[in-house]
Amino acid sequence: MNVNDSEKMRHILENKGFVYGTEEKDADIIIINSCAVREKPQDKIFSYAGRMSREKIIIVAGCVAQSEKEKILKRNPNIDYIVGTHQYYYIDEIVEEIVSRRRSGVKAGFTRKWQESVPDIASRTSLVSGYISIMEGCNNFCSYCIVPFTRGREKHRPFDKIMEEARYLKSKGYKEIILLGQNVNNWEDLEKNMKFPALLDEMANEIDVKWIRFITSYPGYYDDDLIRIMATHPKIARNIHFPAQSGSTRILKKMNRIYSRSQYLDIIKKFKKNVPGISFSSDFIVGYPGETDYDFKLTLSLLEQVEYENIFSFIYSPRKHTKAFKMDDNIKMEVKKDRLYKVQELQESIQLKNNRACIGHTLEVLVTGRNPRKKDEMIGRTESYRVVNFPSKTPVGDFTFVKIDHVGPHSLRGSEVIP
Ligand code: SAH
Ligand code: SF4
Repeated sequence: MNVNDSEKMRHILENKGFVYGTEEKDADIIIINSCAVREKPQDKIFSYAGRMSREKIIIVAGCVAQSEKEKILKRNPNIDYIVGTHQYYYIDEIVEEIVSRRRSGVKAGFTRKWQESVPDIASRTSLVSGYISIMEGCNNFCSYCIVPFTRGREKHRPFDKIMEEARYLKSKGYKEIILLGQNVNNWEDLEKNMKFPALLDEMANEIDVKWIRFITSYPGYYDDDLIRIMATHPKIARNIHFPAQSGSTRILKKMNRIYSRSQYLDIIKKFKKNVPGISFSSDFIVGYPGETDYDFKLTLSLLEQVEYENIFSFIYSPRKHTKAFKMDDNIKMEVKKDRLYKVQELQESIQLKNNRACIGHTLEVLVTGRNPRKKDEMIGRTESYRVVNFPSKTPVGDFTFVKIDHVGPHSLRGSEVIP
C-alpha cells in the first residue's frame, strides 16, 4: 500500500514537471513515506532525516506523519513538511508552497469520502504487477493496531473507477493485477449493490490478465460467495493472504479479532475442498500481552496445520492510541525473541518440506526481474508466489516454465524449459 501511495505522489509530481531521482544525493526534495505499524520503522525516519543535509527539502508523508503531526517538526528541525495519509493528493501544491516560501507546515486532516487520484498512473515501479487501491482505512480496531488511527475509517472506491484502472493496466501490458486494501473482502459498492466476490467476478470476466490477486483479507468477513467465485475463475490466483495473528482463540479475543481458531480453520478447510491447489500466507504477532506458553504453542500448531506458503511474523510492538497500549506488556523481550525465532524456524522447515516436493516438477513462472547478484539469471514468481531463480534471457513480464532442481526454504532454483 505504501509503494502504491508513493507511486501516486510520484505521478502527481511528474505531471507538474518534477523529475524522479534515483540517487538520494542528487535529490532536491526527499519524501519519506512512513509506516507506523511498529515502533522501529517509525524511529528510523528520525535517524534518516537527521542525516540529510539542511539544503534539501524533506517531507514526511504517510502514517507516522498522520499520527505524530507537528511533534515530528519539533523533534527534527531538518524536516520541512508533514503530509498525512489523506493529503498526498495535494502533494504538488504542498511542494510548490514549500519551494516558493520555504516554510514548514502540517497538512493531516481526514476526509470522509473516497478521493480519486489520477487514474492513469504512469509512474509505477513494476511494469508487471499493477496495484489497484480498492479501499482505504479500517473499522476493525484490532486492539494492537494503529491503522484505524492513521488511515481513518473505511472508504470504498466505486466499482467503475476500479474497473477503469484495471482496463488501463491491461492496456499497458500488465500481467497481474493486485487489489489493495486493509480488508478487501469487506469492500462493497452500495450504489451498485455489489460486494467483493462480485467485483472479482466482473474483473475476471472482463480483464484479460493472467492473475488477479488481492491483499489483505480479514478472516472475520468470510463469505461462501468468495469460494464460489474463486472456484469459477482460474484467473484469480490460488493463493490468499489470510492473516491469523494468533492460533489461540483466547488471544484472538483479546486482540479483538472476531473469529476463533476453529472458525478460521473451518474457512481454510472449505477453501481447500472447493478450490484445488489453493494455498495461504499469513501474519502473526508473538508476545501479545498475556500470551502464555500454551497460547504460543497453539500458534505453532496452527502453522503446522495450515502449512502456509509464507508468513510475516512480528514481535508485538505497543502503539499509542490503541487499546492494547494500556494493557500490561508483561512478556520479557527475551521470551518474545525466542517465540519469534521458534515461529520462524518452524515455518522455514515447513517451507523447505513444501519446496522439496517441487524438485523434478516444471512450474509456470512470471518473470519479475533480473537477479541483482547474478547477471545471467532471472527471478520469477509462481502462482502461489514462490520465488524461482533460473539462468535465462527471457524478458521481464513474460511467462515461462522452469524445471526445479534445487530448493531452499525461501526460494527455488531450476532450468528453463522451452516448450
Ligand atoms: N489489515 C491487515 C494488516 C495490516 S498491518 C490485517 O488485518 O491482516 C500488517 C501486519 O502488521 C498485521 O497483520 C500484524 O501482524 C502486524 N501488526 C500490526 N500492528 C502491530 C503491532 N502493534 N505490533 C506488531 N505487529 C503488528
Ligand atoms: Fe489493523 Fe485489524 Fe484493521 Fe488489519 S484489520 S488494519 S490489523 S485494525
